[in-house]
Amino acid sequence: MKLKFYGAAQEVTGSNHILEGDGVTIMVDCGFFQGVKVCDDKNNDPFPYDVSKVDALFVTHAHLDHVGRIPKLMNEGFKGRIYSTPPTREIAKLMLEDTLNVIAREAKADEHEPLYGEDAVKKAFEHWEAVPYDQDVTFKDDLRVRFRDAGHILGSAMIEMVHNGKKLIFSGDLGSSSVLMPESALLSGVDYMVMEAVYGDRVHTDLAERANRLRDIVLDTIKHDGVLVIPAFSIERTQDILFDLNKMVEANEIPEIPVFVDSPLAIKVTKVFSENPSYFNANIQNAIKGGDDIFKFPKLRFTERSQESIAIKDVPSPKIIIAGSGMSNGGRVMHHERNYLPDPNSTLLLVGYQAVGTMGRALQEGAKSVRIFDEDIPVNAKVVTLQGYSAHKDMNALVEFVSEMQDSIKKLFVVHAELGAGLFFAQRVRDYLGVDARLPKPGEEVEIDF
Ligand SMILES: [Zn+2]
Repeated sequence: MKLKFYGAAQEVTGSNHILEGDGVTIMVDCGFFQGVKVCDDKNNDPFPYDVSKVDALFVTHAHLDHVGRIPKLMNEGFKGRIYSTPPTREIAKLMLEDTLNVIAREAKADEHEPLYGEDAVKKAFEHWEAVPYDQDVTFKDDLRVRFRDAGHILGSAMIEMVHNGKKLIFSGDLGSSSVLMPESALLSGVDYMVMEAVYGDRVHTDLAERANRLRDIVLDTIKHDGVLVIPAFSIERTQDILFDLNKMVEANEIPEIPVFVDSPLAIKVTKVFSENPSYFNANIQNAIKGGDDIFKFPKLRFTERSQESIAIKDVPSPKIIIAGSGMSNGGRVMHHERNYLPDPNSTLLLVGYQAVGTMGRALQEGAKSVRIFDEDIPVNAKVVTLQGYSAHKDMNALVEFVSEMQDSIKKLFVVHAELGAGLFFAQRVRDYLGVDARLPKPGEEVEIDF
């Protein structure tokens, strides 16, 4: 069989891999290339293969760099089935519908046709089947495919394929640092793996430390009677922060102050989380069974309508506002930043990766003034970065994950990593574990005995 790497090869985004041979062509993920723009210009390039010959697409999880180009696939003649876990299907639908506005806006700014429209999104979901974890989908009787829990975000999966008595894994994104998700599933007898290494050269702050730092920042905001603005991604990050705040309020570590989740997408995604409790880790499931509503505490408000969002500024300080986008390159957070960046008593808390060229990155690097809605806004607020709210395994956890299958694995293909981080990780795996690890080039085809 042949493995082909068409995206996320020597870079982090654009996930798109193909397994081909024995009369079957299976794709894993079809995501956006992303940079400063949510939808990079590279997404406009035609697919470098015949889309109509692909039999099936397996989707690891609902992040846009894994699902963003699926509607484009429909426009270009994909006729196969699409498979994911049930929560991935639900969240991907919210993400892709929400992205239509962004695509239209970016296309207008650049004066080209939008990448796709509502019809293509609708068509994708007509082809899209939900399959739970650990249940087989079979092709030609002897190729068996199943989802295994990846522990990254709600519904996230590794794709396990078995053929001719051999096992191949596509890791998707791997998590273990969320307070809500379970550890990624234990694997055995793996022969080949295509594996992410976004943080292949970095170690995260641990969970307790990050919650302590968040608590100190909240207390500092209250002391100064300020506003804490947190630009946050809609999936996992927002829910993790809500969970930590919920715990602090219930343990009386922080007083009850108004907390706003001001993002229609994050509100919808949080609903999907609440409706799928069986996908949380055992601790959280027990807490829920014991009657705890983990996304509900006094003075927490979800502001879905824009009127409610605008009214937040009339609520007296201190208060906390969680809003998108996570990199301050659009969304409601821009309004709050315009209101509170000039205020020396307020704090802007950055909890996620800030891409080069975004306003979030400029603020992180100490900009004294930023431009919002054609206005120069002075930055007098404190700007704090809190690492550790990543949903990805860090370097040590990634090495440990490979070490579990060190005896059986024949080849490890490192993807979803910037060149530097990927090379560092592959070297480490070779040196420490003696595993044959390398980074495929974009467009590279590799023959495997599978
Ligand atoms: Zn992801």
